[in-house]
Amino acid sequence: DTLINQIAAGEVVERPASVVKELVENALDAGARRIDIDLEEGGVRLIRIRDDGAGIAADELPLAVSRHATSKIASLDDLEGVATLGFRGEALPSIASVSRFALMSRRIDSEHGAALDVDGGRVGAVAPKPHPQGTTVEVRDLFFNVPARRKFLKAERTELSHIEEWLRQLALARPDVELRVSHNGKPSRRWKGEGSALMETGLSEARLHEALGEEFARNALRVDHEGAGLRLHGWIGQPAYNRASADQQYLYVNGRAVRDRSIAHAVKQAYADVLFHGRQPAYVLFLELDPRRVDVNVHPAKHEVRFRDARLIHDFVYRTLQGALAETRAG
Ligand code: ADP
Ligand code: MG
Repeated sequence: DTLINQIAAGEVVERPASVVKELVENALDAGARRIDIDLEEGGVRLIRIRDDGAGIAADELPLAVSRHATSKIASLDDLEGVATLGFRGEALPSIASVSRFALMSRRIDSEHGAALDVDGGRVGAVAPKPHPQGTTVEVRDLFFNVPARRKFLKAERTELSHIEEWLRQLALARPDVELRVSHNGKPSRRWKGEGSALMETGLSEARLHEALGEEFARNALRVDHEGAGLRLHGWIGQPAYNRASADQQYLYVNGRAVRDRSIAHAVKQAYADVLFHGRQPAYVLFLELDPRRVDVNVHPAKHEVRFRDARLIHDFVYRTLQGALAETRAG
């Protein structure tokens, strides 16, 4: 079983940033309002994620680290309209098979917390342990038992910057959640939560500011357009802020950060047709649509999606941005 989990880990766990992603997404699925992320040595030595979410009952801790046990999907129908971020029940067992892993938690209705250690895939026994409401996952010495994988990890700085980039991506979409990051014992970043229920996902100028800088925020055109059951909203950089590289392009589909060539092409084309050829637009764009019109289950890392009507979506994005940009030029 450990071997199967390690093989799965080959797909799910590429580097510390992928561990952070899986654990933070679990915390979000559990309804966390605040997530603390402590890292050591770029996450290779330690990744500790603590959340204030729903928690896990003591007797369910072993289930959480066993393969294909997910609490998030009850039927095949659920797979169609997945709203949660994870649904394969693979992340924890995979991560635990290639690290020294500990899971600690307390549910709001439990008086006591409990902990479970997994050492390179060997699952220990559940033991009582004081813990505030919520969950802490500790991942130490990633790939300690898979030297071939460990060898491919990059310098501390590089691994840390992958983590930071992913967190920036997340922070833009989830301004309602507070994120605190520390590295090697020092606070390194704090994304303050703007936690009002009125907050619409992905609509925070303050976060935009924090994530992409003042200059972008000043030169960004606000876009918000609906049609054909689609909504595209967010910001696109105007000519005063254009870039030679494609490093500030954030696209979210139903709140999930994705890479999609077709949409990226539509954005770039609209930008080029109205404004500039040969420059890269910077953007933060959110596309919302009926989850049944998009398959998020293409790859375990879930950066890619497949649309039922890709052509229509491409054209919608193109026309929306083309129109918005043309208007600013005319005015
Ligand atoms: P998935 O997220 O695909 O269900 P995971 O392996 O990531 O699978 O997690 C397994 C299960 O452990 C989840 O379905 C959930 O029930 C539980 N779990 C994991 N992390 C947390 C957390 N931070 N808070 C509450 N429950 C969690
Ligand atoms: Mg998960």
